[in-house]
Amino acid sequence: MNQIIKGAELESAVPANVFVETVTEVTHFTDRLFRFKITRPASFRFRSGEFVMIGLMIDGKPLFRAYSIASPSWDEELEFFSIKVPNGPLTQHLQKVREGDQILLKKKSTGTLVLDALSPAKRLYMFSSGTGIAPFASLIRDPETYEKFDEVILTHTTREIAELRYGEELVADISSDPLIGEVAAGKLHLYNSVTRERFEREGRITHLIESGKLFDDLGVPPINVNEDRAMICGSMHMINDTKSLLEQRGFTEGANNNPSDFVVERSFVG
Ligand SMILES: Cc1cc2nc3c(=O)[nH]c(=O)nc-3n(C[C@H](O)[C@H](O)[C@H](O)COP(=O)(O)OP(=O)(O)OC[C@H]3O[C@@H](n4cnc5c(N)ncnc54)[C@H](O)[C@@H]3O)c2cc1C
Repeated sequence: MNQIIKGAELESAVPANVFVETVTEVTHFTDRLFRFKITRPASFRFRSGEFVMIGLMIDGKPLFRAYSIASPSWDEELEFFSIKVPNGPLTQHLQKVREGDQILLKKKSTGTLVLDALSPAKRLYMFSSGTGIAPFASLIRDPETYEKFDEVILTHTTREIAELRYGEELVADISSDPLIGEVAAGKLHLYNSVTRERFEREGRITHLIESGKLFDDLGVPPINVNEDRAMICGSMHMINDTKSLLEQRGFTEGANNNPSDFVVERSFVG
């Protein structure tokens, strides 16, 4: 059986580039998805949309995986939205964490889903599937997103309706937040769809883009490079298909040092 070490023993066992932080809240949404929050070290800086390596000590060794930071850069805590992979080396343990447990956090964050990598435009599309919504949970709570774009359209596609709950609650909480609610009012739109259940919006996002249903439902012109920018986060398959639809429409990929029309990041490997 794997043994997870804790407390002072853990503090002394971790490398110098790792913080040991405490879990402050855990919420389970389905048997595949949960959210947890941890304390944030005062010196830990990141840009909204970036990811970081988080981990647990398992069998006396630290085991890390990449996680998008779901909270915005101004927040006092760090939030993560996680899959539970059956027998997954990390998540079979991570899914059992409770308030007060300790989590390892590497000191350096990175990533391509940042506002700096996009050139200015009117609307920003955030295309996500599954846990790929996590970096956007950060960006839609960052006032800078609304300073840079007049409209922000977050699409979230999951297999089942129950998996949409994280995104729905997130957007509802933003509307009622006294600070960010005011800057996001009238600008932020959530457009969700499911692929494996009957729902008012069914199918992959690529299908909803190609059919034009996405734009008809939102009452906006079809996505175009003159007015729109995009960020994509999901499975490799979802990214490649969405990316090629954008490229067919004249969009070019941007990077931190070369801002352009869209950016992508995998929400997992495999
Ligand atoms: C840049 C980046 C950011 C990431 N951000 C997140 C995040 O915010 N939340 C999160 O839950 N995971 C995220 N991941 C995936 C994460 O790093 C781990 O793969 C995941 O936590 C499972 O770890 P594991 O050790 O249990 O299983 P692993 O051995 O890592 O994965 C086993 C298999 O599970 C599947 N899988 C892994 N992650 C997911 C997922 N998120 N959704 C669906 N299937 C998956 C894949 O088929 C994979 O081959 C991210 C990965 C990358 C590269």
